[in-house]
Amino acid sequence: MQTLAQACLNPQRPGDTNQAWMDLGATLCTPRRPQCDRCPLQTLCQTQGDRRPVPKPRPVVPLQHRLILIPWQGDRVGIWPAGGALLAGTWEFPGCEVADRTGSPTPYLPTFQETYGLTLEVGPWLADVNHAYSHRRLRVRAYQAISPADGSGGRWVSPPELLDYPMGKVARTLAQALPVLPPHFSSCFAYVDETK
Ligand code: SF4
Repeated sequence: MQTLAQACLNPQRPGDTNQAWMDLGATLCTPRRPQCDRCPLQTLCQTQGDRRPVPKPRPVVPLQHRLILIPWQGDRVGIWPAGGALLAGTWEFPGCEVADRTGSPTPYLPTFQETYGLTLEVGPWLADVNHAYSHRRLRVRAYQAISPADGSGGRWVSPPELLDYPMGKVARTLAQALPVLPPHFSSCFAYVDETK
């Protein structure tokens, strides 16, 4: 390739030669639509436009479902340091990966106990949030919940105070959807299984 390129180079006007190649690539020999019938190199060119780039297949971005339970304790909600390098230094609500966000949250309550030390009573649906990162698409369903104890590793703040905490897009969207006052957990505030 080097030998061929040097053979095409005019040693008296190398700059003009390079410019000519660039002009050719910018105007006639474009990747998607080469205009071979107008090209001054048509008699020399061995490809005649046959080697057009094959478009790369789009990478499949995995889809993840996530359940978030926002724990209330009195008039405060619990937030935890976000996991993962992408959201390092930010805060988020307790959550876990689930098979399908439309399913019941009940089977995942032990995971919240193990991960956050929270024994939660699930309340009503709060919001669904869809978000796309470069490496994954996220489908989030969030419920409010009540927690009789602090759990471990979190911080308990009032909803207005959440504005002072750095958060990723999903957590911020949920924080903004939260009511300012704590919900009243009663029979009218019980989790309704939408799958039934
Ligand atoms: S003849 Fe060759 S160099 Fe000219 S436009 Fe077609 S592919 Fe490009």
